[in-house]
Amino acid sequence: MRVLITGAAGFLGSHLSDRFIAEGHTVVGMDNLITGNIDNIAHLMGHERFSFMKHDVSNYIYVPGEIDAVLHFASPASPNDYLEHPIPTLKVGSLGTHNTLGLAKVKGARYLLASTSEVYGDPQVNPQPETYWGNVNPIGPRGVYDEAKRFAEAMTLAYQRFHGLETRIVRIFNTYGPRMRLNDGRVVPNFIHQALTGKPLTVYGDGSQTRAFQYYSDLVEGIYRLLHSNEDLPVNIGNPNEMTILDFAHAVVEIARSDSEIVFVQPKDDRFTDDPKQRRPDITKAKQVLDWEPQVALADGLAQTLDFFRDKV
Ligand code: NAD
Ligand code: UDP
Repeated sequence: MRVLITGAAGFLGSHLSDRFIAEGHTVVGMDNLITGNIDNIAHLMGHERFSFMKHDVSNYIYVPGEIDAVLHFASPASPNDYLEHPIPTLKVGSLGTHNTLGLAKVKGARYLLASTSEVYGDPQVNPQPETYWGNVNPIGPRGVYDEAKRFAEAMTLAYQRFHGLETRIVRIFNTYGPRMRLNDGRVVPNFIHQALTGKPLTVYGDGSQTRAFQYYSDLVEGIYRLLHSNEDLPVNIGNPNEMTILDFAHAVVEIARSDSEIVFVQPKDDRFTDDPKQRRPDITKAKQVLDWEPQVALADGLAQTLDFFRDKV
């Protein structure tokens, strides 16, 4: 296959590019580098089956030649990033999704949208199955990301139903691993940075809010299976190992063998507004239709991620 991956210089897009290259496919990576880093794909530059186009996908996209699959991963993903870039986030979820769908249609390509657990907002159902419609505040600060992704899902399904496009939607739950930006503001790089430098780990609020963390390689496997499956409605891909953020802080300190203390802080800015109180994927569907479930334990994934960050702090 010849595959277009948008957001290819980001954390997930770069790992996906690696997987498709390793499977013998040809990858066209596209990114405007708003939150990505060209270093993430430096090792692919010069590879005969990889090429890179610097382009903002919210503008009209032109890619010469045949394309068999479009994977739309471009979007700021960290709350810090999308709060800093609210309008580009809304644009890439709406205009960028429209443009990439239009490209897939003209090329006769299969389309896969990177959606998110944020479509469930601050969920009143736990764990979240794909049938849950969510609880999103459209006018809160996080709404720029959540609503852009909800629009993106609606647009993707419209192309499927109206144009007969072959589409897939993955709802990604918190994923971590090497190539995250140390300063992207998400809890994993924040805590790792703090643990490795002996600074206090900053738990927001009282730390009772929950998340469930998935290692990137499990996600990449799920996405690869989903693209090749016949499932044309959204599928959750995440690790159901739910824990409080306070317990997560303790786990990072322990695995890093750090002597950092843990402190509670109350961010006064938008970072903590509408922060979901609980989040855990129901992965029954992924098990059934993709024969997929996560393989990497938190201790192993965190150890690998700590190794990656150790010489970067
Ligand atoms: P990231 O910020 O590392 O990567 C996103 C990439 O998209 C960056 O390289 C950025 O420069 C690029 N980009 C953004 N807007 C663009 C535009 N208009 N044109 C071209 N490129 C653009 O984030 P990530 O964690 O790798 O997330 C990738 C995708 O996965 C996003 O769509 C995100 O919403 C989704 N996702 C990620 C997670 C997670 O836990 N990492 C969870 C849910 C969903
Ligand atoms: N968080 C925290 N300390 C930090 C960064 C984040 O306690 O230094 C919390 C945040 O409030 C949220 C959780 O960790 O409850 C996950 O935040 P993240 O930004 O990683 O992603 P989210 O799941 O909110 O999109």
